[in-house]
Amino acid sequence: MENKKRILTGIRPTGALHLGHYVGALHNWISLQEEYDCNFLIADYQALGDHFNDIELIKKSVIDVTLDWLSVGLDPEKSNFVIQSYVPEHAELSMLLSFVTPLGMLERNPTLKGELDSLPVERRSAGFFNYPISQVADILLPRAHLVPVGEDQAPHLEMSREIARKFNNMYGYVFPEPETLIGKVGRLSGTDGKGKMSKSQGNVILLSDTKESVDKKVRSMYTDPNRIRADIPGKIEGNPVFQYLDAFTENDKNVDDFKERYKTGNIGDVEIKNYLSNILNDFLDPIRDKRAYFEKNINLVEEALDTGVTNARKLANETMQLVRDKMKISSYKKVW
Ligand code: ATP
Ligand code: MG
Repeated sequence: MENKKRILTGIRPTGALHLGHYVGALHNWISLQEEYDCNFLIADYQALGDHFNDIELIKKSVIDVTLDWLSVGLDPEKSNFVIQSYVPEHAELSMLLSFVTPLGMLERNPTLKGELDSLPVERRSAGFFNYPISQVADILLPRAHLVPVGEDQAPHLEMSREIARKFNNMYGYVFPEPETLIGKVGRLSGTDGKGKMSKSQGNVILLSDTKESVDKKVRSMYTDPNRIRADIPGKIEGNPVFQYLDAFTENDKNVDDFKERYKTGNIGDVEIKNYLSNILNDFLDPIRDKRAYFEKNINLVEEALDTGVTNARKLANETMQLVRDKMKISSYKKVW
């Protein structure tokens, strides 16, 4: 464990996890567990940014996210599952880093800009505006070397490197500059074809959806809107049905054949959608089984979180000691 490089990455507890999380993030996390010392964060402070009036959802989602992680094969014996607010040093470091962060860095952040624009005015808190700094603190607190995330997180990672560099230059070296690793599909579209699949947009297929629910969601998925009959040639690009087929199959001759027939107007949507439903249900079946096991053994969920938090606290204390020492704010006693 000692010599391994560290990973920090996370998810907001604002709902159960979906296929976008899997291809954008979880898939990488699972395979990186052997090689890295991984810290997987449930960012509940960060969820308050736009869900400050829905604590019940956050509480429920902390458990849902943990169940989803266990079900896809994240292993608490190898990796730390951490609840952000149980390690209050996250808040301390976030506050300190906010002073070395130029305001313009937040104002220019394109992900933050887009998210703020799509939030109703009454849910735009100052804390939400500040969340990229809180995320930088999450990453720097365990002095992470690598951050595997979806594409929308790239600007926050750029910020993390800039702030780490600035802190190190100004006060002395504490933080490695964290590298970004984007998942095999950096941005999976929503079932409605409008932008990314997102918990907050209601356009998701959940890892915990039943077969019936998956079939229903796939049947009503957005395809090429100009193709009103099966004999009209259709578009593959920007068509989420084909994006999902590409994401969840490998060298599948049937998919190549569907694409050819779709482009030339020789196949109906129903045939392709039925195929996609089967692919997704085959993928989800073992995840569903594992979930059912952990739901029956909920003590394992609690143990995973307890151990992860204990380990994370140790690391957090170590880092904060370094930070306070370098900033020379560990003691104001007069030195005689
Ligand atoms: P919310 O709508 O509440 O922001 P979300 O669905 O965007 O939720 P997050 O918790 O913000 O989920 O993101 C967790 C991780 O999953 C991040 O690394 C993010 O980049 C990745 N991710 C989320 N949605 C997708 C997607 N559709 N495609 C690829 N990666 C994604
Ligand atoms: Mg998000």
